[in-house]
Amino acid sequence: MKLDRLLAKHERMGRKKARDLISSGQVRTSDGTIYDHHLEIDRFTSVYIGHEPVQTAERALYLMLHKPIGVVSATVDREHQTVIDLIDDPDRSSLHLVGRLDRNTSGLMLLTNDGRWSKALMAPERKIAKIYHVRTLHPIRPDAVEAFANGFYFHTEDRTTMLAHLEIIGDDEARVTLHEGLYHQIKRMFHRVENQVIALHREQLGPFRLPDDLQPGQWIALDKTQAWSFQ
Ligand code: URA
Repeated sequence: MKLDRLLAKHERMGRKKARDLISSGQVRTSDGTIYDHHLEIDRFTSVYIGHEPVQTAERALYLMLHKPIGVVSATVDREHQTVIDLIDDPDRSSLHLVGRLDRNTSGLMLLTNDGRWSKALMAPERKIAKIYHVRTLHPIRPDAVEAFANGFYFHTEDRTTMLAHLEIIGDDEARVTLHEGLYHQIKRMFHRVENQVIALHREQLGPFRLPDDLQPGQWIALDKTQAWSFQ
């Protein structure tokens, strides 16, 4: 919400009065005095008129979790443990997931209570890279590299997959980079080249890389500056 609107709403003053207070230097956030009445203020920012609080900041959470196999990417589930169950933070119920992984996929998951962050990161036009390590049942055919780059038509979605980078790093081992996230996408792509995924692990989501020392089930919090560093 714009700063003048927030003041007007909270203090029941007109917009004109709110703008006068701002331009006379009486309104500040934790970043200092604000003179721009159009400034967007989120719920994670404290606002004061002089020393009087107008809005108290909520705690913003930006988490990187190493999702273990067997845990579901959901906030609630009747049968299985969820990724939220792994977060021992008093504010965990405010979290939502930034993208999903299949139950039998491990690796990096991001969680937050800041909808602007998840939206900015996952906006389709941003086409962030998602990097996966894959193990397959059979040796990977060299022509799979070109097939992944050309894309596969998926009837269910009536779509052809976007350019995907397949790097073969062993007979039955590869690294795949996607810029989208269709249902079971990597497993379905390997089926198209007569193979089967037997282990899938996400190493990276956009600029965020799963730290090597973060064990399955463990998580770490990013501060606001780290979280927004991709902007
Ligand atoms: N592709 C899959 O098949 N599964 C995932 O969890 C992620 C990508």
